Amino acid sequence: MSFVETEERRALRAAVADLGAKYGASYYVERAKAGRKTDELWAEAGRLGYLGVNVPAEYGGGGGGIGDLAAVCEELAAAGCPLLLMVVSPAICATIIARSGTEGQREHWLPRFADGSVTMAFAITEPDAGSNSHRITTTARRDGDGWVLSGQKTFISGVDEADAVLVVARSHDQRGNLRPSLFIVPTGAAGFAFTPIDMEIVSPEKQFVLHLDDVRLPADALVGDEDGGLLQLFAGLNPERIMAAAMGAGIGRLALGKAVSYANERQVFRTPIGAHQGLAHPLAAAKIELELARLMAQKAAWLYDAGDDDGAGEAANMAKYATAEAAVHCVDQAIQTHGGNGLTTEYGVGMLAGVVRLMRIAPVSREMILNFVAQHTLGLPKSY
Ligand SMILES: Cc1cc2nc3c(=O)[nH]c(=O)nc-3n(C[C@H](O)[C@H](O)[C@H](O)COP(=O)(O)OP(=O)(O)OC[C@H]3O[C@@H](n4cnc5c(N)ncnc54)[C@H](O)[C@@H]3O)c2cc1C
Repeated sequence: MSFVETEERRALRAAVADLGAKYGASYYVERAKAGRKTDELWAEAGRLGYLGVNVPAEYGGGGGGIGDLAAVCEELAAAGCPLLLMVVSPAICATIIARSGTEGQREHWLPRFADGSVTMAFAITEPDAGSNSHRITTTARRDGDGWVLSGQKTFISGVDEADAVLVVARSHDQRGNLRPSLFIVPTGAAGFAFTPIDMEIVSPEKQFVLHLDDVRLPADALVGDEDGGLLQLFAGLNPERIMAAAMGAGIGRLALGKAVSYANERQVFRTPIGAHQGLAHPLAAAKIELELARLMAQKAAWLYDAGDDDGAGEAANMAKYATAEAAVHCVDQAIQTHGGNGLTTEYGVGMLAGVVRLMRIAPVSREMILNFVAQHTLGLPKSY
C-alpha cells in the first residue's frame, strides 16, 4: 500500500493547478455574480483532456479512474473554481453510461464527455421525496417502442447549460422500494421545461425545478435495464460522493491557504496574528481534519477504481461526510482569521461559506450518511 500518489497523478494535479491559477477565484466569482458561465474554463479543461480523464481510452478519454477525475476537481476547487457540473456530468453520467449504456450510447456520448463538448445534468431529487429516493414518483411508461416520462424534479444543477439530463424514474406499475430506470432526456425535448430556483450560493451553476410533462423518448433513451436496480444507479452515485469530497477538500485547502497568508501578514499587536494560539491551533486542527478526510477520499477512489463497489460505497460516504465537515471548519476558521475582511468581497473567503455549507446537504446529507454508517457499518437498527 502506498500513500504517495503516482508521478502521473502528481503531474496531472500540477497541470490542472496551473490551469486553475490561470482563471482563479476572481474569474469564477465575477462570472457567478454577472449570471454568466465558466465556459472558457470548461472548454479549455475539456480540450486538455482533464474532464475526460476517467473516460475509457477507446472512447477518446484518458483511461484513468475516478481518482484522477477527483484530483482534477480538487485542484480546480483549490484554485477557486469549484465546478459543480464536474460532479455530475463526467462523474455520474459518463460513469453510468460507460458501465451500463449500450454500445450505441457509449459511442455517442463518451467521446463528447471525454473532450467536454457535452454536459449532462443528473436528476434524482424530487420535491416530495427529498432524501428518501424510494418515494420518487417520476414515472416512465412504455409507448410503442419508446417511453413517456412524467414527473417533477427539484434542485437540479446546470440544466440551463446541459445538452441532456440523466433522469431517474420508476416504471409505471412499480410500487414500493425504488428499482430505478435511467433515461437520457435532451433538454430540448417536447414537454420538458425547467424553472430556476433562487439560491444564496455564489456559483455560476444554477439549480432548477424540472417539469416532465409526457416527454416522449425513443427506446434508446433508457440506460441499462428497465428496473435496473440500485446497483446500476450507485455505479454513478459513489463517484458523485467521491467528487463532492474532492471538491470539499479543494475548497478547504483554498480557505486554509488564504487564512495562513493573512495570519502571517496581519499584525495588530506586537506579532503577526498567526502567532496567537487562539488562531493558530484551530487552523492546525482544521488542517489535520482536512488531511484525514482527503485520505478517506483517496481510499474511496482507490476502492472504486479497484472494482470494490461495496467497499467504495462505505468509504465514499465516510469521505463525503469527513471532507464536508473539514471544509466547513476550514472556511469558518479562515473567516475568523480574517476578522472583518473575512466577510468582504475582496478577500474571497466569506463567499466560500455557502458552497461548503452545501457540502453538508448535497448530494447526500450529513444525517443520511450517519444513518448509513449507523445501520450498515455499525449494525444498529434502522431509525426511520
Ligand atoms: C446547490 C444544490 C445542488 C443540487 N444539485 C442536485 C442535482 O444536480 N441533482 C439532484 O438530483 N439533486 C440535487 N440537489 C439536491 C440534493 O441532493 C438534496 O437537497 C439533498 O439530497 C437533501 O434533500 P432535501 O433537500 O430534499 O432535504 P430533505 O430530505 O427534506 O431533508 C431535510 C433535512 O432532514 C434531514 N433528514 C431527512 N430524513 C432524515 C432521517 N431519516 N434521519 C435524519 N435526518 C433526516 C436531512 O438530513 C436534512 O437535514 C442539489 C441541492 C442543492 C442545495
